Amino acid sequence: MAGETASLLTLDYAALKPETTAIFLDFDGTLADIAERPEDVSVPLATREILARLQESTRGAVAIITGRPIETIDHFLVPLRLPVAGVHGMERRTAGGQRIDSVVDEETLAHVRVQLEAFAHAHDGVLVETKHGSLALHYRQRPELADESIAAVHAAVAGVHGLHLLHGKMVVEVKGGKATKADALSAFMQEEPFRGRVPLFAGDDVTDEDAFNQIANLNGISIKIGEGSTAAQFRTEGTASFREWLGRLADSFDLRRR
Ligand SMILES: [Mg+2]
Repeated sequence: MAGETASLLTLDYAALKPETTAIFLDFDGTLADIAERPEDVSVPLATREILARLQESTRGAVAIITGRPIETIDHFLVPLRLPVAGVHGMERRTAGGQRIDSVVDEETLAHVRVQLEAFAHAHDGVLVETKHGSLALHYRQRPELADESIAAVHAAVAGVHGLHLLHGKMVVEVKGGKATKADALSAFMQEEPFRGRVPLFAGDDVTDEDAFNQIANLNGISIKIGEGSTAAQFRTEGTASFREWLGRLADSFDLRRR
């Protein structure tokens, strides 16, 4: 049972210090507004500037933890190149630039992919996204096909071992390993420059809940964007209000560094 969720406006960011805070951010639905097609999202230039300022004031303790591949995040955040955990923890780039990818059984995933592509082919607007160690079936353009899409994924993985399903917003993911966003967060927290800091994590989806729970274990700060039951301590209504709050945090950090 989750505790009470307070408005993000009640979080006293003046109590947070740039040198002792580690910032972890989900991407879609947190920094970027969700779009009909995953390739159509964008992050406002002002937000990329805020991230750059936070990266500077925290001395590099800003990372993205997402279901997207690392390269996709680099593309959307250009010219920034932040530490990123991609594909829900299946791949990770450390603050030092080292790449750590989970080993996956690509042959098994390829077998599942054939079946998902057949389903997508038969249903206009349903998309299959292929990532390192993961497949995602997106039905955002055909929300009425939610049950059918979920059933198709379950059928495709039936009897196959070593795969893990993840239900997000209008998407079902099939991961070739059990890495999670919480695992990625823990891994970053054991490395410089994150180690020993108070972790803050913000996300919008059910796939972020394990990281919210991990934040509670680490006595950190968790922020849920949007509606839905959550284990997070704080909530803000949407991406716009969160981006604004992040801007005020950056202002506060910049002031304290002078
Ligand atoms: Mg998200």
